[in-house]
Amino acid sequence: MSIDPYAWLEQSLETIHRADWYRSVQTIDGLCGATVLLEGREVINFASNDYLGLAGDRRLITAGVAATEKFGTGSTGSRLLSGHRELHRELEKAIASLKQTEDALVFSSGYLANLGAIAALVGKRDLILSDQYNHSSLKNGAILSGAAILEYPHCDITVLKNQLIEQRENYRRCLILTDSVFSMDGDLCPLPALIDIAAEFSCMLLVDEAHATGVMGKTGAGCVEHFNCTGKQLIQIGTLSKALGSLGGYVAGSATLIDFLRNRAPTWIYTTGLSPADTAAALAAIEIVQQEPQRRSQLWENVAYLKKLMQEQVSELKLLPSESPILCFQLPTAADALKAGKYLKDAGIFAPAIRPPTVPTSRIRISAMATHQPTQIEKLVDALREFVNY
Ligand SMILES: *Cc1c(COP(=O)(O)O)cnc(C)c1O
Repeated sequence: MSIDPYAWLEQSLETIHRADWYRSVQTIDGLCGATVLLEGREVINFASNDYLGLAGDRRLITAGVAATEKFGTGSTGSRLLSGHRELHRELEKAIASLKQTEDALVFSSGYLANLGAIAALVGKRDLILSDQYNHSSLKNGAILSGAAILEYPHCDITVLKNQLIEQRENYRRCLILTDSVFSMDGDLCPLPALIDIAAEFSCMLLVDEAHATGVMGKTGAGCVEHFNCTGKQLIQIGTLSKALGSLGGYVAGSATLIDFLRNRAPTWIYTTGLSPADTAAALAAIEIVQQEPQRRSQLWENVAYLKKLMQEQVSELKLLPSESPILCFQLPTAADALKAGKYLKDAGIFAPAIRPPTVPTSRIRISAMATHQPTQIEKLVDALREFVNY
């Protein structure tokens, strides 16, 4: 008897289709920005993490091209072998200066920064407490570490505290994991309360600033700055691929933490260093974040305008609570969310449907950019109003 050992793949895909969970890529053409060519048609882009509009900025492009000319396309090895360049160190110093931390370490992506840091910091004898809405990279980092994992209900400090009262003494080290801006909801973690709890129960606290860096806080340092927690002992993770318009991730914190991770984080040690182009582009982006606060003010003006128009004109669409440029409204089913996404796309608006298993409930996710014009925001709200009446 021979059964095709791969036959389950097709059955599995059929199940995904039946649940309206099937996903496929959509091709974007041309330079990224507030408008993009989506499958050949120009649409207004509300689907991008490029909050400050830097991914298409001439200065980042020039920096990337210049670094490629000077150093080549690849970094050719892991940082500990042949892949380390002074440019990497410059970027790490720039991140540490933005974050006001002693040091920082650059990874090849934010996902890898989370996997590597979490796996290095805790193991079998330890406990992880994790917000139920945390990003996939935090969840998988927790699994990779081998530590015991307890999820707490979204932002629920009371449950977290009770879990610690009951469980803390059974473990050696304890690590609390949280997104700072929740990536599929747009709300913020209760950072000051988390810092207090971490101190009370002698836990490490890791905050993922992926959607906050460049966006939140007076200088764009992130939610830690937004909550006036700069200088507190924390493990800050982030990405170079969202507001910073490049590719890569980082950990920022104490010099000891960073020195330890260089010796113990498997996703840093056993992977190729960041390419010269990505490194130089991110470095140029951090400079712009620090020197052009008006980009951040413009982003927040756009967020306020969008929220105001939506409340005035499409109050039927219930926005999830958000304190970030990420605005979501829920729809009853995955099929409804797909329909809404398709309707908007036909109206020239790119705002994707987000469905399970990424999130528990289906929604349309809108992200504002500093480079959106008021007329583009008005067009989005016009399209939403037509959708509601449709
Ligand atoms: C996007 C994201 C990441 C992953 O960052 P990449 O650099 O894209 O790998 C990690 N955490 C959160 C919360 C994110 O939103």
